Amino acid sequence: MTLISVAPQSPIVSFVDASHSVTDYVRFGLYDGAFDPPSVLLNNDGDETKNFVGSDSRRFFVRVVDMSTMSTSATKRRQTKMVWQTYEDDRKTVHDHGGADPTITLVETAAGSGIFESPWLMLVSDPWETQKVKTTTGIAGLGEVAYGSGDYRLRLASMFGHIAVEYPAGSGDRTFCQLFRRGVADERRNVPVQLFILESLYKKYPLLPDYVLGPDLESARRVYARMGMWVWSVVDPVQAKTFKKVTVGKESLLIIPVPAGVNPDNVTNDQRDLIAGPIPGLLASGASGTTGPYGKMALTDTIRAVYVGGCVDGQGVACRDMDHMARACRGMVLVADAQGKIGSDMGSSLAHEICHMLTDAAHYVDPPIVGRYHGASNLMGGGGTGVGSPQRLWDAPNANYLNQSETMRKSHYIRG
Ligand SMILES: [Zn+2]
Repeated sequence: MTLISVAPQSPIVSFVDASHSVTDYVRFGLYDGAFDPPSVLLNNDGDETKNFVGSDSRRFFVRVVDMSTMSTSATKRRQTKMVWQTYEDDRKTVHDHGGADPTITLVETAAGSGIFESPWLMLVSDPWETQKVKTTTGIAGLGEVAYGSGDYRLRLASMFGHIAVEYPAGSGDRTFCQLFRRGVADERRNVPVQLFILESLYKKYPLLPDYVLGPDLESARRVYARMGMWVWSVVDPVQAKTFKKVTVGKESLLIIPVPAGVNPDNVTNDQRDLIAGPIPGLLASGASGTTGPYGKMALTDTIRAVYVGGCVDGQGVACRDMDHMARACRGMVLVADAQGKIGSDMGSSLAHEICHMLTDAAHYVDPPIVGRYHGASNLMGGGGTGVGSPQRLWDAPNANYLNQSETMRKSHYIRG
């Protein structure tokens, strides 16, 4: 008898999306199946269909075919381990190494199949989530684990980056999967925003530009990155010749004088038009096709966010107009703060106001099935507490049939 020796084939690693199809891209989790009515508590149930990771519309898992590891028992399934981490676009720089134990357990689908699958996994954009949110392991009988423990199911990622699965764990053999569909049908978008601070406010808070271009912009980035949308600051080159430009890192804004008739600490609806132009037209709107005193704005269809001391009818925090209203301040939002935080990190105010323009809508209204999309956890909800802290955006209709993701992607303020 001749023994035929067959060299084991190298393992095959693939990524599988929520519809159980093998995929060449994944996306950030949206926490859109995450909440237990009527509270805003995350559902971290052992039942994956209810669990915030296992029920997320953008969940995925990893499948490994490895005949060299398959079970030789007729009934007993084997387990194996992979390392999962995230990388930047260069596939060399680690974005999230996963902490002390970055492994995930894969379980054989049937004894002897040689096919191993991870539990559902999820990507997040906000460090708050990996710092504060525990996950179940997805393996029956095991409890919740925190970041840095084996079988933790969240990783921070970049919308420009990749996931890397190292299999077998410790081998150095990595398989990458990109975030978002790319190539000719790249689904990622740009959200340019022109940022301004009223001069009176800047004099009072000279450090305000650092906060606006630092934490405020960063907060907006984390929120919109989940949708594959990149928020960045733009400055009109014509306006930059007229107004003081402040640059922090790669981001810039303009300090603008307070127009006559405007109370910078108590801007009324009518005064918004005075800030926006066209008369006196400091920030003449390209969105409404007007030509300002400095010529046609180069930045047509670009949201303008103006930091002011306060708004008299802006419901405390800031104010906006519906984008479809034919006002001079079309496309302009005011960012202020009634909680005394102006001059410091104002959290998600900028992200929230931008969303009013991108969706051309008011606040989020819960759909009939409240549990899955709890409005208090939405960027446009009334929340801002508990798990709602990293403000959510969803790809599903709310009670007003508004789908935030679809609506924003069609906005004229978005670039391809
Ligand atoms: Zn609002």
